[in-house]
Amino acid sequence: MAENERIVPDIDKNASRCLCPGCPTHNECMKSNEERIFCSRGKTECNPEKKGCLCGTCPVEKEYGLYDFYYCVEGYAKK
Ligand code: SF4
Ligand code: SF4
Repeated sequence: MAENERIVPDIDKNASRCLCPGCPTHNECMKSNEERIFCSRGKTECNPEKKGCLCGTCPVEKEYGLYDFYYCVEGYAKK
């Protein structure tokens, strides 16, 4: 099956606005890998425990008309 198309481009402008680094779910493993912008890059392999998600207040989510949460666990936003 073909990969579903990503909605959010992995560009510096989006990565720099991403709120993931300040999120309570963003664990030590994710920090040491400097992981962020999961709505574009997809899920982490760091097995985070869901402790809240800041995506709902993120300007990137707003710009692309997204409304989901926990992209770090569920995977990137698809069309
Ligand atoms: S919507 Fe979530 S994953 Fe995407 S850039 Fe914003 S905080 Fe990061
Ligand atoms: S996708 Fe949501 S839960 Fe995961 S690190 Fe980013 S803001 Fe936090």
